[in-house]
Amino acid sequence: MPESAAPAPCLGGLVPFSTVDWPGKLAAVVFVAGCPWRCHYCHNPVLQERSPVIEWEQVYGLLSRRRGLLDGVVFSGGEPCSDATLPWMIDAVRALGYKVGLHTAGIYPRQLQGLLDRLDWVGLDVKSLPAGYAALTGRRYSSAPVWTSLELLLNWGGDFECRTTWSPNWLKESELLDLAQELAHRGVQNYAVQGYREAAVAVTDMPSTATQEALRCLFPTWQWR
Ligand code: SF4
Repeated sequence: MPESAAPAPCLGGLVPFSTVDWPGKLAAVVFVAGCPWRCHYCHNPVLQERSPVIEWEQVYGLLSRRRGLLDGVVFSGGEPCSDATLPWMIDAVRALGYKVGLHTAGIYPRQLQGLLDRLDWVGLDVKSLPAGYAALTGRRYSSAPVWTSLELLLNWGGDFECRTTWSPNWLKESELLDLAQELAHRGVQNYAVQGYREAAVAVTDMPSTATQEALRCLFPTWQWR
């Protein structure tokens, strides 16, 4: 990697081995710091600000040493598409021979579109139907880019899943089912509902058996996690 070409990504952390961030894959997870939204249930609010805690050289060095031990690398956040160096990081990781996955909340569809030909998998957060978005994200008009991103992924032809972080405190089961029906109607094949965890505490609220069965019937692949 030529040193003169190195920009300065804003990175908030690195998980060297993960079995849960890319379904079916053993992956390293690179957390990109910075997100313009302020979801009240954010799993990692420290990553909302662009405050770097790890250098790209450390990440790159570890990934260089782990070649052959991992299936791929996932860029997560925060919102990784908020960092202008993301395409550069992806290219660097691909040059090491890794497959690349992306977690995104769908905030920047134009950036996502520019990345699709170098991605192997995408996990798209879909938080609710459009009417509920602003209350969850703290940002007006936040739903439109998400549904544009979803259309991009549906037209892409690559592997992706939609996922919803769920708690009955902000999404009734009937609202979760309405959302899932809309996603299935649009052609989503893989859907996951993630139980809300606060500070890694185990999930206590689960959708009812009837709701889980209804979700199972809507998608070829569905998962509660
Ligand atoms: S979009 Fe994701 S990273 Fe950004 S505030 Fe919401 S939950 Fe946190």
